Formats: sequence, C-alpha cells, structure tokens
Amino acid sequence: MYAGVPLIYGRYLRILLGRKAAKVRTLVLTFDDGPGNRLTPAILKLLAEYNAKATFFLLGRNIAGREEIVQQIATRGHEICSHGYDHLDYWTTSPVRALKDIKRGWQAINVALGNNHSTYPFRPPRGRLNLVLLLYLWIRRVPIIYWSSDLGDTWLETIDTCRIAHLAEKAGGAVSLAHDFDRSDDTLDPLILESVRLALAMAQQTGMQVLTCSELFSRDKRGN
Ligand SMILES: [Zn+2]
Repeated sequence: MYAGVPLIYGRYLRILLGRKAAKVRTLVLTFDDGPGNRLTPAILKLLAEYNAKATFFLLGRNIAGREEIVQQIATRGHEICSHGYDHLDYWTTSPVRALKDIKRGWQAINVALGNNHSTYPFRPPRGRLNLVLLLYLWIRRVPIIYWSSDLGDTWLETIDTCRIAHLAEKAGGAVSLAHDFDRSDDTLDPLILESVRLALAMAQQTGMQVLTCSELFSRDKRGN
C-alpha cells in the first residue's frame, strides 16, 4: 500500500502526461537534480538560442552556492519546480522525514529566489512517492509531474543523442527527462546538450511547440 498505490498512480500519470503532450503537439523539456555549475548555464544558453522555455526540477541540496543560476533560470522565464531536498527514496523513508524533505526542497528555492511561495510543483526522486506524501500533495493541490520520455542519462553509460528527438517526434509530443547536475565526470555533458539541441531542432522543423509544464497543463484544460 505504502509504495504500491503511488507506483500505480505514477504510471497512470506518466501515460496521461504523454497523451497530453501529443494531443497538443508539444515538447516539454525537463531537467532534474540541478542546478549544476556546468550544464545548467549551457542549457540556458542553448534554450535562448531557440527562444524556448524549459522546466527545472531543482534539488534543494544543490542550490546553496548556485543561487545565481537559480535566479537566471527564473528571470529568463523558465519554470522552477522542486525535486525535494536530498534525493531520498521515499519508498524506504519514514513519512515524517519524507515530508520534511519536500518542505525543505521548497524552502531552498524560496531562499534562492527571495520568494515565500508555500509550494512548488513536485517531481519525486526516482519517480517514487509513498502513500502519505501522495495524500499530502493532493490535499495541498501540488501538481505531481512525471515525464514521458527519458533520455536515460542516469542509467546508461552513454546516451543516444537522438533519443528525445526521436521519441517526441514518433509520439507527436513528449515531456522529456534529462539531468543537469554536476556529475563527477563531465563526459556526458556534451551528449546531453546535443540531445537537447537535436530535440529543439526537431520541434522547430516539425512545428512542434516547446512549452513549460504549467503551459502544457493550461493548454490542455482549454483543449487547444
Ligand atoms: Zn532525480
């Protein structure tokens, strides 16, 4: 129950998300676990070249010392969401500790931006929620946002740079997942950047719109 219900619900949300993106022919680029000193500024530069907006699921523990990058993300009009504070596995974490982690993640964003938002849209680390968190997020009406197309940059040793572009083009839209934190080894950085560039080029060539998560949800509500 503790993990099973949220697991099934999460799979359901992922299917819905993919359908939603395809319905309005939209590519949503999302980045987890950042900000990173190397990749996040490079991604911001690339997005500016294509005049495109993306969504960043920031990891609270990576924010300290990188407040300027967080501010840049916000001032350039990208969407800032939360990925918790410590990348805990909520399936094996006590409800009290997990709730603290979520709130601490939101607070870290507030500190960096000088905001006092009570919540930010949330993506659970590894996609794993537990029942208590699921109910808590429902009650507080916090959007829980998954993804539909994974670049595989956390579980593959090397990545296919065409993957996101191909998956999104084939499906007619996608919410992609890649990671922009500072890895100990930077060999994947240029590959991740290239995969984002190829996805943006594909969207441009095929007339697919590139939106943030919130923009995708608001398009869908209006049915256009
Ligand atoms: Zn993550």
